[in-house]
Amino acid sequence: MSVLNVRSVLVTGSNRGLGLELVRQLAGKSNWPEWIFATCRDPEGPRAQDLKNLAAKHQQIAIIPLDTSEPSSIRAAAARVTDHLKGAGLNLVINNAGTGTPCNLESETPEEMSRVYKTNVVGPMVMSQVFLPLLRKAAQESSQEGMSCSKAAIVNISSKIGTITTILGWHVSHGLSYRCSKVALNMLTQCQSLAYAQDKILCIALHPGWVQTDMGNLLGQPPLTAELSVRESLNTLARLSEKDSGTFVDRAGNSLPW
Ligand code: NDP
Repeated sequence: MSVLNVRSVLVTGSNRGLGLELVRQLAGKSNWPEWIFATCRDPEGPRAQDLKNLAAKHQQIAIIPLDTSEPSSIRAAAARVTDHLKGAGLNLVINNAGTGTPCNLESETPEEMSRVYKTNVVGPMVMSQVFLPLLRKAAQESSQEGMSCSKAAIVNISSKIGTITTILGWHVSHGLSYRCSKVALNMLTQCQSLAYAQDKILCIALHPGWVQTDMGNLLGQPPLTAELSVRESLNTLARLSEKDSGTFVDRAGNSLPW
């Protein structure tokens, strides 16, 4: 079985939900990453307490402020990550932070649509621009052939809700801004994969399943725990290679339609 043998990883939105579980499982691996950059927008606020408790038990977790809707915050985070890495590259960026409300077409507002787009699409776009030098460095440092998440990769946490061909769950929730943002995130993933192919940076959109988190619970009773979703997703990330770059997969690694 392939192992995710990653030296350094950054996760956005890691103070709760899937992001917190990603950090928890990464920190618990026997082949520990040397650096886990657990980013969130308010490390000093009450919603970061669980992350702080986790970081107190694992010295490789560095909590770094990062608001994906603010490019200046992303740049400040990159500067701190660069300092921590002391000249080394960053192997894996997981764009997990996401937001959305179950608005329908009548109640959606331009302000809400812009807010969701800024976090879910503009954020991951700026993340890849700002962290590109560190990802490139990681790819160049690696002796592995081809592409892998252990070498250099951008993982965009997307959703089947953004699949145009199925329009999943329309009768449960229109979720207009969220739906559109994930469609755009999928397109961004494809563009990143083309732009960064020569740098050997793997880019993928991953649907984690319908999961018991604050967001997942908005739509009813999700079948999946965060523990299972993240365990299966990390197993899938370990198996990805060059042929998967620019695709959209579920947590088991099955290919999904756009
Ligand atoms: P949660 O609502 O539980 O957590 C969302 C996380 O994103 C929080 O840490 C939140 O931080 C953070 N966040 C929101 N806005 C920003 C921002 N501007 N900058 C930085 N962080 C931000 O959701 P999930 O854990 O369920 O979602 C994680 C990802 O998985 C999302 O991208 C979501 O779209 C995707 N997803 C989830 C599914 C599910 O069923 N749960 C299904 C398909 C996809 P804060 O505490 O500060 O608000």
